[in-house]
Amino acid sequence: MIHSSPEPSFRESVDMMFNRAVSLMDLRPGLEEKIRVCNATYTVRFGVRLRGEIRTFTGYRSVHSEHMEPVKGGIRFSMGVNQDEVEALAALMTYKCALVEAPFGGSKGGLCVDPREYEEHEMEMITRRFAYELIKRDLINPAQNVPAPDMGTGEREMAWIADQYKRMHTTDINGAACVTGKPINAGGIQGRTEATGRGVQYALRAFFRDDEGVKKAGLKGGLNGKRVIVQGLGNVGYHAANLLSEEDGCNVVAVIEYNGAICNDDGIDIHALKRHIIEEGSPRGFAGGIFVEDGDSVLENDCDILIPAALEGVINLKNVRQIKAQLIIEAANGPVTAGADDVLREMGVVIIPDMYANAGGVTVSYFEWVKNLGHIRFGRMGRRQEESRHQLVVDELDRISRDTSINWTLSPDFKDKYLRGAGELELVRSGLDDTMRTAYQSMSDIWHGREDVTDLRTAAYLVAIGKVAASYHAKGL
Ligand code: NAD
Repeated sequence: MIHSSPEPSFRESVDMMFNRAVSLMDLRPGLEEKIRVCNATYTVRFGVRLRGEIRTFTGYRSVHSEHMEPVKGGIRFSMGVNQDEVEALAALMTYKCALVEAPFGGSKGGLCVDPREYEEHEMEMITRRFAYELIKRDLINPAQNVPAPDMGTGEREMAWIADQYKRMHTTDINGAACVTGKPINAGGIQGRTEATGRGVQYALRAFFRDDEGVKKAGLKGGLNGKRVIVQGLGNVGYHAANLLSEEDGCNVVAVIEYNGAICNDDGIDIHALKRHIIEEGSPRGFAGGIFVEDGDSVLENDCDILIPAALEGVINLKNVRQIKAQLIIEAANGPVTAGADDVLREMGVVIIPDMYANAGGVTVSYFEWVKNLGHIRFGRMGRRQEESRHQLVVDELDRISRDTSINWTLSPDFKDKYLRGAGELELVRSGLDDTMRTAYQSMSDIWHGREDVTDLRTAAYLVAIGKVAASYHAKGL
């Protein structure tokens, strides 16, 4: 999205937010610069024979920080991809991984292509050729650089990339770990597709357990009944909207897509809207709400929680003063520009920052990478053993209830729940929940505990930069 000056670029925005946090830290001279700069960005231009001609594509893979390896970060397919954007996103990956303690450095990739323009077999050729260019330079490699899905890519593309890597490294037994976000039958993990959206849900749950934070946002109570607006009904936005309305009682009152929005004060059936958009290519004509042609204007509608889950720069100096939400959770990367961030802070709006809010994706990617290196599904060894130990307890309780004069029995619901051992999906959700709670606590301790820190974003940067600095220190730098 292009904005007229004085709006800084996406990378400049990230650097400005970084600088604000660093000014509150006492880093050794020179370390600040070392952490902030992007180590390297590789640009590739390649041709693919399509529809009787050779079409040239431009792609990037940027490595921001290698304080830990492999480096990690998604691959984006969009016409808006450029060097500034991938460098900003790679930097955010460094801080995100540090914040949620995923043991990776930060990276990001992108290809200038509109996936809607091409047939599936054409996208496969383009993806494989891009992957080939990156793999032969070790910019995709289980030990060095591990991509994942991002805007415009999903498990289909990740499966092609993994297969391309295996074709080029036939004896690498850890080949499946070269990329995450794969389908289950290609080495993926349960719960990865929904992970970023579920992470948004867990982040909001963590926020609403923090009474002081809720008060600072001028809100009351829990998630139940909160009016929510979601921008972008893609991977992240769809799962976040769906889980929040199905499991937490939120009322999604508007959904914004690039070609229009749907509004309904009584709540939108997210599943039905998604189906409509897939079938019709647009929210227009959806019976469960009112269609608004100018989708962007709906960002300014009244609501409790605004969830930008599409792309960067959508809340900027042009529209920031019209924003009515008291709480913004950045499901997308960089949806609020640095300038808008300053204004929102003045307005008293609380922002749950991207580096935390959408970290569910990389967290579950970390679990997938570990699973691939371990060559075994989580829960496979212990699940049945856990179930038989629980069965012992239930049998014993049943025996006691029969043998005593007190008339009591276990409820069938309890038995069902207690007896079920944790499979991969349960373990993934438990690990994600723990990660999101722990990271929230580390940010909120600073947010509420330091007078010079007035927002969650600065708190998140302080935690993340502190961890990266400690890692450099341990290396002797
Ligand atoms: P996606 O391609 O699955 O979905 C993006 C959605 O936004 C699509 O439905 C698209 O039509 C819509 N959209 C595009 N431009 C828009 C506009 N101008 N206004 C309204 N809607 C628009 O992408 P995604 O994977 O859901 O990623 C969305 C954001 O989340 C990106 O910023 C990405 O970097 C971030 N993110 C994604 C993941 C992940 O696991 N996929 C992880 C972390 C962060």
